[in-house]
Amino acid sequence: MAAQRVILEASEMPTHWYNVVADMPNPPAPPLGPDGKPVSPEMMMQIFSGPILEQEMSAERWIPIPEPVREIYALWRPTPLCRAERLEQALGTPAKIYYKNESVSPAGSHKPNSAVPQAYLNKMAGIKRMTTETGAGQWGSSLSFATQMFGIELRIYMVKVSYNQKPFRRSMMQTWGAEVLASPTDMTNAGRKALAADPNNPGSLGLAISEAVEEAAGRADTKYGLGSVLNHVLLHQTVIGLEAKKQFSKIGVYPDMIFAPCGGGSNFAGAAFPFLADKAAGKNVRLVAVEPTSCPTLTKGHYAYDFGDESGYTPMMLMYTLGHDFMPPSIHAGGLRYHGDSPLVSQLYKEGLVEAVAVPQVATFAAGVQFARAEGIIPAPESNHAIRAVIDEALRCKETGEPKVLFFNLSGHGHFDMASYDRYLAGQLEDYAYPEAAIEAALHRLPKVPA
Ligand SMILES: *Cc1c(COP(=O)(O)O)cnc(C)c1O
Repeated sequence: MAAQRVILEASEMPTHWYNVVADMPNPPAPPLGPDGKPVSPEMMMQIFSGPILEQEMSAERWIPIPEPVREIYALWRPTPLCRAERLEQALGTPAKIYYKNESVSPAGSHKPNSAVPQAYLNKMAGIKRMTTETGAGQWGSSLSFATQMFGIELRIYMVKVSYNQKPFRRSMMQTWGAEVLASPTDMTNAGRKALAADPNNPGSLGLAISEAVEEAAGRADTKYGLGSVLNHVLLHQTVIGLEAKKQFSKIGVYPDMIFAPCGGGSNFAGAAFPFLADKAAGKNVRLVAVEPTSCPTLTKGHYAYDFGDESGYTPMMLMYTLGHDFMPPSIHAGGLRYHGDSPLVSQLYKEGLVEAVAVPQVATFAAGVQFARAEGIIPAPESNHAIRAVIDEALRCKETGEPKVLFFNLSGHGHFDMASYDRYLAGQLEDYAYPEAAIEAALHRLPKVPA
């Protein structure tokens, strides 16, 4: 029998994160402040602590993973690399399909890989409290778990509609000791302003970010944590790809193509960036980010400076964007509904080193159900995007007879998303048309950046 699961010993867990900035053909473009000039570290220090900012701006190739972080990682890492042989058989493909199972973390996704070091580094900087926002609750639950591990208080601004519709993610956060507020609240200027305009404001991710950032900026003992997009978050996620490289080398296999779902870009970067150095050294490996057709940031967005949030509160970043006030349709993969993308992923896409494809919603659930029936694990709706792209490629291999090695990141499980599976199984799930007019309109409102 072929190896189905490649397991690493605890002692084989990476000791360093990989920083792709060291190997990029061009240095990353700096974030800009409202005056169009690069933002100063002092400005950033209002919301992020020193050790986090140091990683955010680092160009060092290898950054040590602190021992206390490795100890918490060891609760579920190294994660298994699995061969999806039963899926291969169901598809009748000569391709070999492997996946990294990031659903085995306490919160059920890859997000604790960054939540844990963020909590630890803030603790080391003497920070007592953190704030963050969460939409569907994946990031909020991950940071709740992580701050609990290091004895930091956490306040979460949870988008009000999700707060009411996803009570179990909220219970998870509360179980791990976090305070969860339905955003908009009357505790911040941003929240009070929104409530004054409309007492029934359902909230939005952009507004929740504004509330969490405003609170962190106003208190010396409090910093803000972000779950994707920024360089340090992508850095932390590289444990995924670094482990996978060791696992592949143990079985003498190397992937031809790597797939991951792409919202803000953190799990894609985590799985793919460690392979990028090999690509620069001449290896023929393709890295494919998979996004929804209804929120097609890389495949249809503009490469331009834009805000990270809806209200224009954050610095401007050079990235692929659909416009900071573009409202994507309410697809069930909440983690992929972001108007922008990581500046690092964006720049590497612009330079042709990574690729992107977009897939429609109903087909992603069909892929997720096919995966669950073959391999057992029920994937998160976000992960279903990568699985769709992998199945499509495996079916192409069936036509051409190519025995390609396909590798994808299973970014999380779908146990909290069964209401979405219900709708799929009942035939009630719909595809949204590519929202061309809304994107076009939002792109006209991109901030003007002084040349
Ligand atoms: C948040 C999330 C994503 C998307 O975020 P990235 O930063 O692009 O990785 C994908 N999958 C799962 C399970 C998530 O929770």
